[in-house]
Amino acid sequence: MISPLGIGRTYDLDSLFQRLNRLYFDHSLQVTVRWSLRAVRKAKRRILLGTYHHSTKTITLSKRLDQPRVPLFFVEHILFHEMLHAAFPEERHPMHTEKFRRYEKMHPDYARAHLWEKENIDVLFKPPQLDLHFGPQAG
Ligand SMILES: [Zn+2]
Repeated sequence: MISPLGIGRTYDLDSLFQRLNRLYFDHSLQVTVRWSLRAVRKAKRRILLGTYHHSTKTITLSKRLDQPRVPLFFVEHILFHEMLHAAFPEERHPMHTEKFRRYEKMHPDYARAHLWEKENIDVLFKPPQLDLHFGPQAG
């Protein structure tokens, strides 16, 4: 399903989704993909970079990924992960099974994406700009 919310400033999630759906899922997935409307909670867990909502069949990716300093292969890796959740709805408990991990490694950029995440995740979650006027001391 095409969603205008999938068109970001840097990345168009719909076209990324369609490419991955063709390459790895034989066009079988029918889900909506979109960027999150607001920033995800501040956390360093990768799981919060993307979610798959089973009842609405919607994949949501954090807007923090929608910026030029985040490489395409990393966005695709996160999207691919969420697409696996859509493909295997029975695997949706929080901890990923071995089977799930095996499938995840099918993506050619798996290793590169993990390395990039390790080296850049702090940068990714740093607020773009700190405005002290809105801090607790503001008066
Ligand atoms: Zn997951």
